[in-house]
Amino acid sequence: MRKNIVAGNWKMNNGLSETETLIRELKSQNKIGDVEVMIAPSFTNLWQAFNSLKDSSIEVIAQNMHFAESGAYTGEVSATMIKSLGVKTVILGHSERRAYFNETDELLAKKVDAALKNEMRVIFCFGEELKDRKSENQEHIVEDQIKNALFHLDASAFKNIVLAYEPVWAIGTGETASPEQAQDMHAFIRKTLADKYGKDLADNMSILYGGSCKPSNAKEIFSKPDVDGGLIGGAALNADDFFAIVNSF
Ligand code: 13P
Repeated sequence: MRKNIVAGNWKMNNGLSETETLIRELKSQNKIGDVEVMIAPSFTNLWQAFNSLKDSSIEVIAQNMHFAESGAYTGEVSATMIKSLGVKTVILGHSERRAYFNETDELLAKKVDAALKNEMRVIFCFGEELKDRKSENQEHIVEDQIKNALFHLDASAFKNIVLAYEPVWAIGTGETASPEQAQDMHAFIRKTLADKYGKDLADNMSILYGGSCKPSNAKEIFSKPDVDGGLIGGAALNADDFFAIVNSF
């Protein structure tokens, strides 16, 4: 059976002391229910976060990585470096990486390969822009993003992949996809996977929703049959809000 997951993507927020404070607050919350909880602080705070949460059930994950193992890539961080800390999961393909850092499907396929080669788990993000939704082209866009970055993989690789549908128009805008819009797209994603890899694999994939997910809307979104949790931005920066979302199943 697939897992429920709530992951907090802190993006470029929180220095060391804010990281320590937020983690202290997160540790004081009681996790209820059957859900995997993750947080993704910045690279500079990964080590501190990892150590602070070593004995907790909250997993510390990375927001990005380079595809190369090592070498002359000033300012970049590799899978081996992340793994050397003990961190085992990485977010790839976030729309902010695609939009501001020109990450293409081809580049993301290389990053996915590098992560899997290093036995890391990938939270793979994708989603359409507002213009695509307005022209009713969202399924075509999402299908291409998934196919281009993931469909070269063997079925066995998918046990280390979590999918995250994040419509760009809903990220940080306060505008959430309706629970029905999320469900429709998640069902389409599952069908796309089933067509290529079979129904069993598709039924076992966790597909997260991201985009202005907050305590007031999480329950309704998570109640949809094909939504297995969320990738949370702004609301993950507040421990009470984050745990209200974690407890929304
Ligand atoms: P918000 O929750 O701030 O809209 O961000 C979503 C997101 O991009 C998570 O990766």
